[in-house]
Amino acid sequence: MELKPKYNCNLCPRLVDYRKANQQKLTNYHNAPVDSFGGIDSRLLIVGLAPGLKGANKTGRPFTGDYAGDVLYSTLIKYGFANGSYAQSKDDSLKLIDCRITNAVRCVPPKNKPIGSEIKSCRTFLNSEIKSMSNLQVIIALGVTAHSSLLACLKLSLKDNAFKHSVIHKVSNGNQSFKLVDSYHCSRYNINTKRLSVQMFENVFELTTKLLNSNE
Ligand code: SF4
Repeated sequence: MELKPKYNCNLCPRLVDYRKANQQKLTNYHNAPVDSFGGIDSRLLIVGLAPGLKGANKTGRPFTGDYAGDVLYSTLIKYGFANGSYAQSKDDSLKLIDCRITNAVRCVPPKNKPIGSEIKSCRTFLNSEIKSMSNLQVIIALGVTAHSSLLACLKLSLKDNAFKHSVIHKVSNGNQSFKLVDSYHCSRYNINTKRLSVQMFENVFELTTKLLNSNE
C-alpha cells in the first residue's frame, strides 16, 4: 500500500515554517504537500523537483499553474500521455493516460531549493510510490535532484549512473525492473537559458514512447 504524506506532514521543519507563513499570506493557495497526479497502475512515472510557489503549491496538482506545467502538459498531450484541456487548474478536464506525475519533494521549498535533509525525508514517499507501481516500466527524472533521489531509492550510485539528458539507465528494484530516462527540468530558467529546448524535451517523450512500445 502506497505511503502518502499527511496534509500536515511535519517531517521538514523549514518547509513547515514556510507552509505556515504561506497559509497566512496566500490564503487561497493549496499550501500543503501536493499529491501525485495519475493512476498508480500507470507504466510511466515522471518525477520533478518540488511544487512551485505559484504553481502546484497554489493549485494542489503537480506542475499545474506555472510555466513548467505549460511545457510538460502540452508535451504529454502531444505524445498521448494526457487528453482533455490543460487550463492551469486542478479542475480542468485534463486526464493522464498511463502516466503519473510526482515530485522528489512534495512541499514547496523557499526559492525553489530543497535541502538535502528535505529530499531525504520526502524520499520515503517516493520510494513507497515506486514500489506500489506494479506496472512501472519507465521513470523520467526531470533534473539532477529527481535523478539523484531516485538513485537513492534504488540504492544505486551517482558515479555509475551519472545524470545526462536523454540517457537511459536500466535499473531494478527488488522484483521490478524498468528504465530511468533523464531530462533537464522543463523550467522557465532552463528554456530561457537554452539548456533545454522544447524539441529536446519532446525527444525524451519520443524515446519514452519507443521504450514503452518495445519489449526490451
Ligand atoms: S517535503 Fe515531504 S517529508 Fe517534508 S514535510 Fe513535505 S511531505 Fe513531509
